[in-house]
Amino acid sequence: MDGWRAAAACQEVDPDLFFPVGAGAPALAQAEEAKRVCRRCPVRELCLRSALAQPHPPSGVWGGLTEAERHASRRRARRRADDRR
Ligand code: SF4
Repeated sequence: MDGWRAAAACQEVDPDLFFPVGAGAPALAQAEEAKRVCRRCPVRELCLRSALAQPHPPSGVWGGLTEAERHASRRRARRRADDRR
C-alpha cells in the first residue's frame, strides 16, 4: 500500500461510495458525495496523480474526479504536450 493512503479521507467512508453504478441521477449524486469527501482529503493530489499514472485507469472517483473527468484531464494534458512540440 502506498504510504499516503493511510491519510486518505476515504478511510473513514464506505468504499462503495466511490464506485457509483450507472449514469443516472442517483449515480451522479453519489459521485458528487464522493467528491465532497475528496475535497477535504489531505492527499487528494497524490491520489489523483496515482490514478492518472495507472496503465489501466481505475474506475470510480479518485482524486476528486470521476473516470470520465480523469479521461478528459488526460486528453487535455496530451493535447497540451502535442501543442508544445
Ligand atoms: S482523494 Fe478521494 S479517493 Fe483519493 S484518497 Fe482522498 S478521499 Fe480517497
